[in-house]
Amino acid sequence: MPPLIDIRKVSKTYTMGTFRVEALKEVSIQVEAGEFVALVGPSGSGKSTLLHIMGFLDRPDAGEYYFAGHPTASLGEGRLAAIRSRMVGFIFQSFHLLKRTTARDNVTLPMVYTGLGTDNKKALECLALVGLSDRVKHKSNELSGGQCQRVAIARSLVNDPLVIMADEPTGNLDAVSRQEVMNVIRGLNEKGLTVVLVTHDDEISAMAGRVVHLKDGVIVSDETRRPPARSQLAASHLPQARLGFSPSEFSEQLKVAFKAIWSHKMRSALTILGIFIGVGAIISLMTISEGFMKSLLSGSSEDDARKVWVVPYRQHGRPVRRFTAGDVEAIRTGAPLAEKITPILERGLKISAGDKHVDSSVQTSEGYSLQEQKLRDKFFENRKMTGRFFTRAESLDKARVVVINQTLSKKLFDSGNAVNNDIRINGIDFLVVGVAEDHKAEQIFGSRPTAYIPLDTAEKRVFGSGHLDYIEVVAPSPDDAQEARRQIITALRAKRGAREGAEDDFDVRTFEAQIEMFKSTMGKLSLVVYSIAGISLLVGGIGIMNIMLVSVTERTREIGLRKAMGARNSDILSQFLIEAVVLCVIGGGLGVGLGFGLGWLAYFFIKVPPTLGAGTISFAFGFSTLIGVGFGFWPALRAAMLDPIEALRYE
Ligand code: ADP
Repeated sequence: MPPLIDIRKVSKTYTMGTFRVEALKEVSIQVEAGEFVALVGPSGSGKSTLLHIMGFLDRPDAGEYYFAGHPTASLGEGRLAAIRSRMVGFIFQSFHLLKRTTARDNVTLPMVYTGLGTDNKKALECLALVGLSDRVKHKSNELSGGQCQRVAIARSLVNDPLVIMADEPTGNLDAVSRQEVMNVIRGLNEKGLTVVLVTHDDEISAMAGRVVHLKDGVIVSDETRRPPARSQLAASHLPQARLGFSPSEFSEQLKVAFKAIWSHKMRSALTILGIFIGVGAIISLMTISEGFMKSLLSGSSEDDARKVWVVPYRQHGRPVRRFTAGDVEAIRTGAPLAEKITPILERGLKISAGDKHVDSSVQTSEGYSLQEQKLRDKFFENRKMTGRFFTRAESLDKARVVVINQTLSKKLFDSGNAVNNDIRINGIDFLVVGVAEDHKAEQIFGSRPTAYIPLDTAEKRVFGSGHLDYIEVVAPSPDDAQEARRQIITALRAKRGAREGAEDDFDVRTFEAQIEMFKSTMGKLSLVVYSIAGISLLVGGIGIMNIMLVSVTERTREIGLRKAMGARNSDILSQFLIEAVVLCVIGGGLGVGLGFGLGWLAYFFIKVPPTLGAGTISFAFGFSTLIGVGFGFWPALRAAMLDPIEALRYE
């Protein structure tokens, strides 16, 4: 059988600036399975360097290393991690236990990186082996130094390694603990486990079966005192690199992430503030505009959807072309789907009541027969009407009656009742017969003070001219609105003699198009809010990156330990990415709450209940995850690329 460890002419040089240290100079050594080797020598002689190379924590600059007969020079990072995980157990002078973690959880750690799942029973067996069955639930800070090192030994055994590598395992222990720990290690060797141990303590090296003496990077003596223990352990092949992530690893990473966040509550809270505010701003806007659309659509009746408005369109460089009675006639004859056609005049005039004067819009409206009155009432249903609309008879009589909207009523009469009061339009007295409540949209965005007067009254008494400002057309059903629009366009183009391809000097809008216009207005508003939110998220993201960098620095030794226990670079990368994502998702989750809360706050002003859809929620979480990954990637990559030895030694 080939030797377990076969190192041939291995050299390692450290360069610090112009200063070169040859830590190992063409060292050759073979270790058989079952041996207990002590590497001794003065400080700086290269003992640790040799041990790290043997344990695949470091690579030699030159020379060859055969492990259980297999060359290792060309093995990749993942493969070396697998060997560390499955074949080598490490014990360090300073124990390197995870802080505030129970003995059992410390021992299960290496199993996380085998990809085979963790086995609590195995962990307990190993703790029993080092005599710590009664300390399973104790945390690392509740154990003595000797107990800590015994936990570390149990941890090194948990994946059934071929060899234990111990770097000054008793260096930090008192005499009694030292004896305990050495008894455990010796007992393991007697059962056939190979042990390589670095020490400068003669008492310790005296327990070894073979003592190798190093000085200035070369082996100066190599003395075997005892034959190796009989070893049943043998490696026919080296383990393959692990692919993907096991569920137990994922749950460990989540656990670690939450623990890290929880142990720095204040810091974490401040870190997620930017994400919290950014997501909150976006969500509040989304819930408000979603709720707004919903109530707008539910507030609009079928009659609204049947309407088509014909309005003048100002062509570039030409005056507005007003509609005439001829245009109305053209629509009446040319558009069969135009069921009802109402020409409307509109002027901006001063309206007064008592000593109050208000600049208002005065619009014409027709009076109605009893039957049509019903239709009109239905149209006003959503607005709620106090009083009544003027009748057809009043309209034909050119009566001085007026319906005013709520905004005007408030300006003229405050909260008092306007109906049956007199107002003056352009100096002419009118009787208020009704007050129409504002539309939902008007309630939200505010509306112009508006008065409706009969068409004939307007033409003959107030405006002094019959120029039409726009034409309101009602189609038989909402589905006919589009077709009615086409008919109107064709009719008007024919009437006005527009040439083929020439631009229309009028615009025909359906209710649907109005909604679209509203949406585009909201879109512009959203852009502003999204920009503010974007800046907040950017700042939040940078905060996340900053705190992750701090976290990586703080946990450098832990990263080194995890790598020594068999973690791949990708394991470390995903560990820190998950932490960043968890931070962001917590911020995002709270942000959803904030946004929804702001939505309800806005409810008191605009009376639109916010709507929180599944889409909004998934957007928030998806977005937070993206920020976590985006801004956490660089710190996580830095963590993943740390050199295990340098990380372990980090102060
Ligand atoms: P020992 O374990 O015998 O005390 P080491 O193997 O730790 O010795 O170190 C051997 C030599 O290499 C020492 O001179 C040490 O200063 C140097 N050395 C070890 N690690 C590094 C490093 N990362 N950078 C620079 N020099 C190093």
